[in-house]
Amino acid sequence: MKKGLAASDGIGIGKTFRADSHLNNTVEYIVGDIDKEIARFEQAVASFVTDTEKKIERVKTNNAPEQANLQADVLSGRIVMISDPYLIGEVTNAIKSGQSALIAVQKALEVFEKMFASSDDPYMAERAADVRELSQAIVNKLKGIQEPDLSNLPNGTVLVAYEITASMLADIAGSDSVVALLGTIGGFTSHCSILARNMGLPAVFEIELDDIKDGTTVIVDGGKGEVFLSPDKKNVETYTAQYNAKLELEKKMQAYKSKPTTLKSGEHTHVYCNIGNTSDAKAAFESSAEGVGLFRTEFLYMQYTTAPSEEMQFLAYKTAATSLNGLPVIIRTLDVGGDKDIPYLNLPKEENPFLGFRAIRYCLTRTDIFEVQIRAILRASAFGKIKIMLPMISDVSEVRKSKILIEKVKKDLDKDKIEYDKNIQVGIMTETAASALIADVLAKEVDFFSIGTNDLTQYVMSADRGNADVAHLCSVFYPAVLRAIKSIILAAKKAKIEVAMCGEAAADQLMLPLLLSWGLDEFSVGAKSVLKVRAGIAQWDKVETDKVEKHAMGLATTDEIKDYLKSVVKVLG
Ligand code: PEP
Ligand code: MG
Repeated sequence: MKKGLAASDGIGIGKTFRADSHLNNTVEYIVGDIDKEIARFEQAVASFVTDTEKKIERVKTNNAPEQANLQADVLSGRIVMISDPYLIGEVTNAIKSGQSALIAVQKALEVFEKMFASSDDPYMAERAADVRELSQAIVNKLKGIQEPDLSNLPNGTVLVAYEITASMLADIAGSDSVVALLGTIGGFTSHCSILARNMGLPAVFEIELDDIKDGTTVIVDGGKGEVFLSPDKKNVETYTAQYNAKLELEKKMQAYKSKPTTLKSGEHTHVYCNIGNTSDAKAAFESSAEGVGLFRTEFLYMQYTTAPSEEMQFLAYKTAATSLNGLPVIIRTLDVGGDKDIPYLNLPKEENPFLGFRAIRYCLTRTDIFEVQIRAILRASAFGKIKIMLPMISDVSEVRKSKILIEKVKKDLDKDKIEYDKNIQVGIMTETAASALIADVLAKEVDFFSIGTNDLTQYVMSADRGNADVAHLCSVFYPAVLRAIKSIILAAKKAKIEVAMCGEAAADQLMLPLLLSWGLDEFSVGAKSVLKVRAGIAQWDKVETDKVEKHAMGLATTDEIKDYLKSVVKVLG
């Protein structure tokens, strides 16, 4: 078994295809006719530009707009770079001095590559990969090497390359034949990782691949970063069984697609979806979610090297709203900071980033950035049922300041005669210990709550959610966390505002009886969990959930609570 970077979750079993086995090293040669060599270089560039333009067209036709935009940006960046007059001048001069076009272009691009690679900023450093890919593509053109046609691979292909490139992913866009990706290069924020996650392709990167030949059977576990080469029969059977059991359960769950979310005893509740981009929005609608409970907009910001413009954001939010066809879409304003760094926003290095300059704290300081986002959300609200959600609220003043800003932006839109939903709802994430303690006060100021159990747990337990040494404390089943959740839900009920949960705990079958007993209005979960949560809810009777709640909340430790909930959980399938 090989272990690498768990770049994109999921299991893929298939036969390898090495996308880079055709590439060999460049050799210098004697240039006979300088003018002909310059013309060869120009032809290589022209042919590269034509191919790349075709790729851009293909990604635009086959992918969701936001993902297509990202891929198109990467690809057009290469056209811009290779057409740069300075670069062309350097290459031409080098050829005139007797160098081959092959070496001249490689050397000229190496300068750019080194410049990116030496950046302290990991995002910029990873852009060196784009330059390498461009260089290799031009070299291939000069050598007359035809790149393999990845748009026509056999079903069940695991695509392997030293570097899985954006242009390879553009080639496989819209086809189902590739089941997983393996690469030696590719950090978590590299384009290939971002794109693999967007495309829902399991991927393991940062792995040595020299010993992998074409046609080798492999199991790729993108969630654990594990790869099994030529696995024995038993291993294939185990993973295939796991994979099939998952498919089987998913099939059974389809019965819940056309059903409302109802308890066995008839009470209604709702299952919503968490999304991070516009393709997720389509998946959310197809999953039969009754709305989007959390659109994590920071992912939109992470995909670019500068803050996305109002127009780009507007397009993404509008696409999400229209994809949901009138169902509610709750857009969370930028939650940057903590473990989510966005290099170009220049966040200060902090001793305790989770307790620092994060989310609403950042946005209320950088109102220039905040206003652009609010304006884009408001404009998109004319096209569907959008709600605004503020993250990391710990005081009423943060809500009031945000609302003043929202009102200002509304006035600007009125002046510009731009449509928006005048009654747009504004709610908050209840995810800090402070918000749980003053939930009754906050409930009077906002239209809805959404409980972010991922953060609420770390802040209530004073245990960093990313620190393995205190991971045992980061459980939602600690009595303190459960009491915080209960008090938030009850405060919302008292104030007659809606209360949702969008943290991971919303999809936990063990939590269901407690949340149902307290009367949670919306469970917002990943698209893959929608039907399982709806099916789980359908197994419970309200009276039964109240009994479970009474018993569980009387227990003293997390182990006691979990053991008890495990003993009463309903088995699906
Ligand atoms: C949460 O904190 O529970 C949440 C949903 O937000 P995030 O995981 O993005 O911090
Ligand atoms: Mg959070």
